[in-house]
Parts: sequence; structure tokens; C-alpha cells
Amino acid sequence: MAHIETLAIHAGRQVDPSTGAVVPPIILSTTFERGGDGSLPYGFSYARDRNPTRSMLEQCLAELEGGSAALAFSSGQAAAQALLQALKPGDHVITPEDVYMGVTHLLRDVMQSWGLQVSFVDMTDPENVRAALRPHTRLIWVETPSNPLLKISDIAAMVELAHAVEGLCVVDNTWGTPMLQRPLELGADFVLHSTTKYLGGHSDVLGGALIAREQSPVFERIREIQSVGGGVPSPFDCWLLMRGIQTLPYRVRAQCQHAEQVARFLSEHPAVTRVHFPGLESHPGHAVAARQMRAFGGMLAFELGSREQAQAVAARVKMIICATSLGSVESLIEHRASTEGPGTRTPDTLLRLSIGLEHPDDIIADLRQALEG
Ligand SMILES: *Cc1c(COP(=O)(O)O)cnc(C)c1O
Repeated sequence: MAHIETLAIHAGRQVDPSTGAVVPPIILSTTFERGGDGSLPYGFSYARDRNPTRSMLEQCLAELEGGSAALAFSSGQAAAQALLQALKPGDHVITPEDVYMGVTHLLRDVMQSWGLQVSFVDMTDPENVRAALRPHTRLIWVETPSNPLLKISDIAAMVELAHAVEGLCVVDNTWGTPMLQRPLELGADFVLHSTTKYLGGHSDVLGGALIAREQSPVFERIREIQSVGGGVPSPFDCWLLMRGIQTLPYRVRAQCQHAEQVARFLSEHPAVTRVHFPGLESHPGHAVAARQMRAFGGMLAFELGSREQAQAVAARVKMIICATSLGSVESLIEHRASTEGPGTRTPDTLLRLSIGLEHPDDIIADLRQALEG
């Protein structure tokens, strides 16, 4: 198999056979010509079901993650919902207690009334997950590194526990990216992405994806749910994602290097009480992260002495932008507890940083003036 740098540029693409265009056209058509007998000579019928630009992105995503098939969605949440709706009322799901806030809302406020049972556990210790298993556990939902505390779960151990009860294991690989973390190679059944983040990489497109290790009745059911429910991305969004993905490996590589430098700077700064970054030897998940990740990612969080101090730093940054979301070329800082609102598990002394592609010395200089200002 080609290296990921090469796949990112070529997977799913071909020179347009009708014009020779090197960059693929955006196919906006919502409907496709049929034979008089209703047959589909080109394989497409209607854009909610399938669209050529979306198919191109799905081929690219499958190859990047080393899966056999992929579905592109209108958002990460739409992908998560389609996967959960493929389960049956009464089925049991295990997720990390600090699973992405939107997924918590989906599980608790939408899917619980649909009959799904959910256990939120501390997934950093596989024994907690083993203790939460029930005979009707159908899905273990893994998110590693987690948001925003960068907790690390052992993917291979979670896969083993899920398969022991004939359940499925999905890994939200939004933070890891296929560049750093290969869940399907560790046996996971599905990878989920908010492509809004690193895959798009420029804060200008909302999207989601599910990639399957192998074709299966569950995967076909998810495809059906998407096609009927309509959570599909526009052709232009698919095209933007294809464009963003071409530079993913080089963006992520630089973001990992910058994040290491920023983490070391912060861990030596007297105003900072704690740094959450799996690349630091002091991080409790460091050994597992070092085993299952190629590098430690471009996300980190740090804590100050009080909520007021944390919010003051977020207000004082000049180049870094105070905003939610992550994985883009610009560095973002966020007081996550304020964003998550009442019921958040995030410490109110914590700031989350998404490291961008600015020069790391400039990122550090901005943080220093904000910490000392
Ligand atoms: C943003 C995010 C999501 C949700 O994706 P959307 O594209 O915002 O719907 C899910 N998981 C993680 C880890 C995220 O960061």
C-alpha cells in the first residue's frame, strides 16, 4: 500500500476522463439519467442516495483509514447518529465518561428515549469497561485522545472486550487522524470522524464520516439510514474536504511538533498548574499513547490557578483566536467549561488549545504575554 502522504493526494481521484482536468469537477447534479426501463447505466440515481463527488471522497476516506468502505455525512454528529440508529432499542452502549459533549447529548437526550441503554465509564482502565459489560452490550464507543482532558484509552483492549460479547467497537479518530492512529488495523469495526476538524483542516467545512473495516449488514443498515434520513454532505463540501485532505499528513506532522514545544513551554511556566498532553512522560496515558499513536497530536489543555485566571488568559491572547473547534491551520484557544455549559465535567481552570501552523515561536510568545500580561 502506498504511504499516507501519497494516498492523501491521489486516493479516490483520477484525471477527469471527459476533459483531462487534473482537479476533479464538482458534480452538482441531483439526478442522473436512467434507461427507459428504469435501469441506472451510470450507477447513480438521486443525490440523497449517492453523488459522484461524494463517492470520490468516500473512496479517499476508506483508503486513508485502511477500511473497505466509507460513508461521508453532513456532520460528525450525523455520522454518530446514523451509527447509533443502526442499533436496536434495548441495546447497551458503553462510552467514555468524557466522550465529546455532542455525543453525550445525542446519547442522553435523543437516543435514550429511543431505547438505547448507555453506561458512561472511565475508559482509561479496561477493567472499568469489563465491569460495565452486559450480555446485550452491542457497542463500545472509544474516543482517544479524549476531549478536552486528552485521556488515552487502549484501542486494542477495547476491541477485545467488544468482540468478547459479539459487540462492535467504534473509534472516534477525529483527534488522532489516520496519520497518527490506525484503529481498523487494531481490529476496530468502525472509525468515526468529524471531518470538520483535521481532515478539512481550514475551519470552512462541516462534515462527518464513518469508515468500516469490512462490509457488513450493520454497515448496509447505516447506509440505508443515511440515504433515507438524508444526513448527506453537499458536493461542494465533499470537494473542499478532498482538497483539505491532500495536505493532512504535512499539517498534522507540523502541528504535532508545535504542540510538543508548546506543551514543554507551558509545563515549565510558573502560572500553569497542569498540562494535559499525552506526549509528556508525566501524562498517565503516555505509554499507551506511545504504543498506539505515531505522534501525540496537535491538541493540548492546560490549567491555571482559578477560573478567573483561565478566562483572563483566553481574553489576552492576541494572535491565537479564542473560539471553539479544532484541527485547523489557525491556533484556537477555548475556555471549554464555558462552551460546554451547565453539567460540564471539564475543570473551570482549564483552557484547551488547538495548535495551528503558525511559527511555534510566535504561538509561544503569544501565550507568554497572555500568561504574564
Ligand atoms: C467536533 C467533534 C465531533 C462532532 O462533529 P461535528 O462535525 O461538529 O458534528 C465529534 N467528535 C469529536 C471528537 C469532535 O471533536
